[in-house]
Amino acid sequence: MASVAIDGPAGAGKSTIAKLVAKELNAVYVDTGAMYRAIAVYFIENELDPEDPEEVERACTKLRVRITYEDQQQQIWLNGENVTDRLRTEEVGKMASCVSAKQPVREKLLQLQRDMAKQDNVVMDGRDIGTHVLPDADVKIYLTASVEERARRRFEELSLKGIPCDLNNIQQDICMRDHQDMTRELAPLRQAVDAYYLDSSNLTIPEVAAEILKRCKEKNVWK
Ligand code: C5P
Repeated sequence: MASVAIDGPAGAGKSTIAKLVAKELNAVYVDTGAMYRAIAVYFIENELDPEDPEEVERACTKLRVRITYEDQQQQIWLNGENVTDRLRTEEVGKMASCVSAKQPVREKLLQLQRDMAKQDNVVMDGRDIGTHVLPDADVKIYLTASVEERARRRFEELSLKGIPCDLNNIQQDICMRDHQDMTRELAPLRQAVDAYYLDSSNLTIPEVAAEILKRCKEKNVWK
């Protein structure tokens, strides 16, 4: 099976781009952040403390994350309930960043992610795909953008949905998440040595997707 790994910080546009690339390559898009977000939902809804190791261990034995696809859209199931619509809040994003630093949580999702890449051609995005989950991925991309640009995009996205928000707060949250994801001990966010660095600050979505598709074709993995 062929795989494209797209890693990068929060708000770099990974999911938008990965979806487009997957469609073009006729591959399955796997959003690994959504899996961590599902576990975050479990912690929030059960009022669990991610800093209590016993609670984390217990939660990981109880929770089950499952992925299905409806009309090529990834659906995330948590203990039999579809939680896809509850994943995209700032609160869940922050909690996901906390729980994703814990070993039992990462272990729980690692096998699931690797199994998915064994079953289908995948475009998988996250923080540790090229470095840890799929170290032999055919194409690895490190997709980033300036903090200002990432905050601006997030602000625009929320405003369009009519959600009140503040640009400075968004930028602070992004910086905090970058710091947590890059400095944690387990599978921190960093560019894999063989990943292609792509700064999307001044590029349009089609331009970024075209750049990645070019790498895929160069590697002759697809088509
Ligand atoms: O990409 P997204 O913002 O949905 O990810 C939420 C959080 O999940 C990230 O901030 C990160 O802490 C964690 N994550 C991770 N490894 C991945 C994907 C996401 O640690 N492969």
